[in-house]
Amino acid sequence: MQKPIIVQKFGGTSVADAERIRAAAKRVIDAVKNGFSVVVVASARGKQTDQLIADALELNPDPPKRELDQLLATGEQQTVSLFAMALAAAGYDAISFTGQQIRMITDSVHTKARIKSIGAERIHKELENNRIVLVAGFQGIDINENITTLGRGGSDTSAVAIAAALGAKECEIYTDVDGIYTTDPRLFESAAKIDCISYDEMLELASLGAGVMHSRAVECGKNYNVRIHVKSSFNYSHGTIITHEVPRMEDIVVSGATIQKDLAKIDIVGVDNKPGNAARIFAHLAQAKIVINDIIQTELSAEKANLSFTIGISDLNTAKKAIDQIKDQINCQSVFVRDNIAEVSVVGVGMRSHFGIADTMFTALAEAQVNIDSITTSEIRISCIVDKKEAKRALAAVCEAFELDKPAAQRKQTKK
Ligand code: ADP
Ligand code: ASP
Ligand code: MG
Repeated sequence: MQKPIIVQKFGGTSVADAERIRAAAKRVIDAVKNGFSVVVVASARGKQTDQLIADALELNPDPPKRELDQLLATGEQQTVSLFAMALAAAGYDAISFTGQQIRMITDSVHTKARIKSIGAERIHKELENNRIVLVAGFQGIDINENITTLGRGGSDTSAVAIAAALGAKECEIYTDVDGIYTTDPRLFESAAKIDCISYDEMLELASLGAGVMHSRAVECGKNYNVRIHVKSSFNYSHGTIITHEVPRMEDIVVSGATIQKDLAKIDIVGVDNKPGNAARIFAHLAQAKIVINDIIQTELSAEKANLSFTIGISDLNTAKKAIDQIKDQINCQSVFVRDNIAEVSVVGVGMRSHFGIADTMFTALAEAQVNIDSITTSEIRISCIVDKKEAKRALAAVCEAFELDKPAAQRKQTKK
């Protein structure tokens, strides 16, 4: 009978050096001993991806994205081969693959490619031969055989997508924190750990800056019913389960808070207020392959409107060039760019049916003397753009106001 498959993903810190790789290998061996076929997905060691980017920028401040992908993919390739050697040294048969070798086919959007399909046959074949399979995360190949990468933090997405393609029982994400917290514990030390969180809430937290999980990994888990278990590679404590159903979910109003710092905001002031202008601007930005976060349009008069939007800071140069090209067509008065901003958000599915959430957030920011540049909301989140220098203070104020240092059951807000 075929053994159940488990995918274990190890992040950069969890494979930073030989000792850590050995410790990670021990987890894999434990799973094998417990009767699983194991597929390991690993990230580049330690800060290697940052180092490779720095190396590239030293030679070219705007490196060709195809070449950047070609370079960055080497980080993960090193990890999986070293990991396979560690497993072999412990007496286990293991084989490592690059994303290309397992036919992880992506689109051609270099540095932020999306997965289209995964060739599961090769992995299945190796597992059937009782081998441990290791796959380099973060990378794939497009239809023209160019190496692509999935965006920073993308190994999580490789892991969950592989788990989905193999019909794995679970995808374990081993990292340097004990699980998902109400907010980044490095920024708000007393953040509380969450035992179980829904895909929707985690998706929102991840898209708004909770770097512990790549948002597309959560999306993939939701779409393909992969249970995700985020846990520490340093201890054996229970982590956080990300799944569809979360007990007590209805009572929890705000489940977490985030900061997104790698943002820029572009304000297009005084554009012609006529049909088709917004479409023209965003079609042009889409053509330049820029992902837009939030959009705010305000009518100034019958003739003129302001249009603001936020984007990832890495897209800023491309976005500026794109706007310059269509400035005349949209007849705007001026364009302002802010790259010193951060977005502080609170997230919770319970918000939809509770009052007073916006009020609590704005009061907390006012009391902390933090000025709000702009506000955006959805039914399960409220986000405020603030000055980057004030972001950490703003996050702390919001976390305290929503008692995010306590487990959900102990918060007053849950009883509203
Ligand atoms: P890995 O290399 O294992 O993928 P990452 O650095 O990508 O690790 O993610 C782990 C980090 O995510 C933690 O060290 C923590 O600082 C940060 N983080 C951000 N938001 C959260 C959160 N809500 N819960 C836990 N960790 C978070
Ligand atoms: N190594 C890549 C990064 O640092 C991918 C990952 O770690 O998930 O972003
Ligand atoms: Mg990560």
